[in-house]
Amino acid sequence: MSFKSVVVLGGGPIGLMCAIEAKQNFVKKVTIVEKRQAYTRTNVPQLQNEIVKHLKDLGLKDTLWAGRQAGDSVAFFRIEKALWDKAQQIGVRMERGYVIEGLIGRDPRPDGFYKSMTLVLKEWDDKAKASPKYGKGKTLDCDLLVVASGGGAASDPVLQKLGFTFEKLKAKNYGAFGIFNPDPPGGSQTDLALKTQVAGITKSIVPQSGKIGFSTPDHNYLLVTLAGCTKSDFKYLQANSEKLKELLLAVGKTVGTAVLNEIKQVQKNLAVFKIAVVRAKQFYSDKYPAVILGDAAVTPHPEAGSGIGTGFKGFQELQKLFQALKHTHRSEDNTALFLKFNESYELHVSQKALEGTIIILRNLTNMLETFKADVEKFHQAAKGKALKKMAEDFKGIIQGLIGEMAEERGDAEGFRNMLNGDNNKLKHNWDANVGKLWQQISLTYAQVKQLTADISLLDSRLKEIESKIQFA
Ligand SMILES: Cc1cc2nc3c(=O)[nH]c(=O)nc-3n(C[C@H](O)[C@H](O)[C@H](O)COP(=O)(O)OP(=O)(O)OC[C@H]3O[C@@H](n4cnc5c(N)ncnc54)[C@H](O)[C@@H]3O)c2cc1C
Repeated sequence: MSFKSVVVLGGGPIGLMCAIEAKQNFVKKVTIVEKRQAYTRTNVPQLQNEIVKHLKDLGLKDTLWAGRQAGDSVAFFRIEKALWDKAQQIGVRMERGYVIEGLIGRDPRPDGFYKSMTLVLKEWDDKAKASPKYGKGKTLDCDLLVVASGGGAASDPVLQKLGFTFEKLKAKNYGAFGIFNPDPPGGSQTDLALKTQVAGITKSIVPQSGKIGFSTPDHNYLLVTLAGCTKSDFKYLQANSEKLKELLLAVGKTVGTAVLNEIKQVQKNLAVFKIAVVRAKQFYSDKYPAVILGDAAVTPHPEAGSGIGTGFKGFQELQKLFQALKHTHRSEDNTALFLKFNESYELHVSQKALEGTIIILRNLTNMLETFKADVEKFHQAAKGKALKKMAEDFKGIIQGLIGEMAEERGDAEGFRNMLNGDNNKLKHNWDANVGKLWQQISLTYAQVKQLTADISLLDSRLKEIESKIQFA
């Protein structure tokens, strides 16, 4: 076996798992390049059983769930810290506060494929979100680069140099999260009548599907899609954290039995964000020894509750690739092994991308339905033929778009079923099938944006919530 060193770009949960696996079962030298200075993320993932099992197998049960049931909700920063402790114990190194700025291919094979690389690292200033002008640099040699740098990977020029290309679904959703104080001793309950009333109003803004409230030892966490939210509502919430807080507190009051009363005083305790689906077209490089996985390969829709899950599928495929590469030499043409990794992972990535597509279309349809209901109210209240005619025309256009999205959603569901059945039909033909559908959706979405961008669906509903609840 001639592979000696692995570099993992990105020390998030997936990158850390890959680094531990590489060190335990593949090569002697493993280095993570991570730009963040510390693990602080308070977001909470849903951990599938196989991930819980893997974390237990790594010996992290007591660190992560001391006194609680394995698999209970726990924040990202705890998972990342536990994995990093483990990685350090077994000798993984980390270049913290660095990014990869460039790379040089080394030892080319006759077919032009480089057997290894020298990576050029540059210091990263987390606060400035840039490399300092006179920042330190260093180099790192590697025989295999594992890219696990998360959702922003598509805009990284180094990945373009490696030959990774990406496809993005133009239609998007908006989401929000809030970090709340943990349950007080004995708990407190929102008055049932109030809960029901508020749930009625918030439902058009935040349709609740899947698990959205999480209770952890550190805090309670709420993650929602803002389906009844236009571009102008999003900008308004982005600029107005008090209103966002009101909305999240109101939604919190309607969530299960979790007590979501007080926003916790931590950095980044609430935020709105855009939800987009981006996927890599291929998961290995044709020119350099490099693979891509995790959120960098496909960004999940948070509502599907499986962010870390798809990354874990990629990790499992990487475990197999490590095993296969162990029995070869870097000088050999290992394309078939990388292709196998690619084909197996493609199935999971396509599933995730289609799942996101279906959810985005469903939420946009909800948004249009909310808009239609507002136009209907306007129609009924309107005096004069001209105004009534205008409202009717509007309703017609909205209904047309709802119809288009229903068809597109049907197609996306059809492709997803194809994947679950005879996946080969789709696996080898993403562009002709889903790629084409994504283009169609982008045309529909352009019309939706044109129609709704400057409209507020939120304002009147927020006022209604305010009148029901006295906020601290
Ligand atoms: C706002 C937001 C909220 C989310 N909330 C949830 C949630 O509630 N539940 C859930 O399950 N999932 C959530 N996710 C998704 C979840 O974070 C990921 O699915 C999960 O962390 C697996 O990701 P990963 O390890 O592939 O990438 P990440 O966790 O994104 O890790 C990537 C790592 O790479 C580092 N990095 C990036 N670029 C570079 C570079 N150029 N050089 C060096 N280092 C780099 C980053 O600092 C980071 O540490 C959320 C994502 C976002 C953006």
